[in-house]
Amino acid sequence: MSIASINPATNQTIHEFEPLNKDAVLDAIEAADQAYQSWRETTFAERQRCLLKFADLLRADADEYARMITLDMGKRISESQYEIEYCAKIAEFYANGAERFLADQPMEVADADAYIHYEPLGVLMGVMPWNFPFYQVVRFATPNIMAGNTVLVKHASNVPQCAAAIEDLYSRCGLPDGVYTNLFIPSEFVEMIVADRRVQGVSLTGSEPAGAAVAALAGKNLKRSVLELGGNDPFIVLEDADLEKTVELAVKGRMVNAGQSCVASKRFIVVEAVAERFLEGFKKQLSTLQMGDPMDEQTTLSPLSTESAAVKLQQQVQSSIDAGATVVIGGDRPDREGAYFNPTILTDVTPEMPTFDQELFGPVATVYVVKDEAEAIELANRSSYGLGGSVYTADVQRGRRVAEKIETGMVFINQPTKSQAELPFGGIKNSGYGRELSHLGILEFVNKKLIHLG
Ligand code: NAP
Repeated sequence: MSIASINPATNQTIHEFEPLNKDAVLDAIEAADQAYQSWRETTFAERQRCLLKFADLLRADADEYARMITLDMGKRISESQYEIEYCAKIAEFYANGAERFLADQPMEVADADAYIHYEPLGVLMGVMPWNFPFYQVVRFATPNIMAGNTVLVKHASNVPQCAAAIEDLYSRCGLPDGVYTNLFIPSEFVEMIVADRRVQGVSLTGSEPAGAAVAALAGKNLKRSVLELGGNDPFIVLEDADLEKTVELAVKGRMVNAGQSCVASKRFIVVEAVAERFLEGFKKQLSTLQMGDPMDEQTTLSPLSTESAAVKLQQQVQSSIDAGATVVIGGDRPDREGAYFNPTILTDVTPEMPTFDQELFGPVATVYVVKDEAEAIELANRSSYGLGGSVYTADVQRGRRVAEKIETGMVFINQPTKSQAELPFGGIKNSGYGRELSHLGILEFVNKKLIHLG
């Protein structure tokens, strides 16, 4: 198995890392379990000191970490810089909020006094994806470390420089050995870790097949799990929307991270009264994107994360075209080195086409024209995914009405779904279960113990 950093802008290998063998993994589990015995006894103030230092360290070398992200997976450098700053904010949010989020909760009971007391569970396993290589790990690890758990992380195999740097950061901020451990391992090793009696839970962010595999392991071994999986977010444009602004947001919502975000807007569902104007504006703006080196500040469209991701996207788009979809712009890859894909709009995608219910992980938008609000809601809900979504209208009450009928974990009005430390993040249906971020994120892997005072 290779764990290599390959720059997707050039397809050149930068660095290779040696994977661990099974004995080394067992040693890491033991060290994490040992560390848990003392980490669980530390005060919130001690944990807070480490995680505030973590935020400082991130900011001090933000440019270096941002370059690492861009070299590992091709994101535009300004997006990488944003990601590092956002991770510092998440660390501060939990460092400062954990004690409050985990304070004893008195219960309302008629005949006695009782309360919920939160306690950590032990060693947790995190399986993480490459698309936001710092953020995904920080949003899993930080609340759990603040809660008194210890974590093992298997990062995606194409972002090893980031994986090693994150472990170094958690060590330099003062966490004792074994509280945070990076494991360079193939995904097949996840089974033995989840099955290990010392491991109490597993959190996976990634694709549907990986989520299903890990959920099965968690079920078989009676371990708690959180799954943050893919999405096919609807972006619903009603006839009273501010079209100019909505088109700008459509570009932003679809093109974040070159389209490789679980909560990127993916299905543009537009009522017919404004469909032509929307499509015209969307096409015009997507055509002006500047494809190029992600290290160059002028670039507005970066490559995908790997050559194989670009090949997969091409196959998905081509299968829609072969089945009768119309290409408004793009539809193929440019003639240049690197994992690039042209900005693409497809129309006439029908439920019979295989890609209708698939996540297109790249700069490809599908636009659907519907008669009215009711048809927009019906189409938005015709998806096996249920992660995020957004609704565009001048009437916020109308927006709320529509939002409440959308079957997803998050709906935003007049802006695409976004992640923010204070807001819960997660989905329903095949997008997974559980929540990360906000006060809910820290409650996933704690024992909510009832204490009854008689
Ligand atoms: P992926 O292929 O599922 O990989 C995610 C992680 O799971 C990687 O560490 C991978 O290891 C591991 N993995 C894959 N198969 C596994 C298995 N059978 N057992 C155990 N581990 C396994 O996903 P990705 O391509 O990295 O990420 C893109 C997907 O993640 C998209 O679907 C995206 O929407 C979703 N995502 C969801 C969220 C959310 O919060 N809901 C956020 C970001 C991304 P290897 O790299 O070694 O294969």
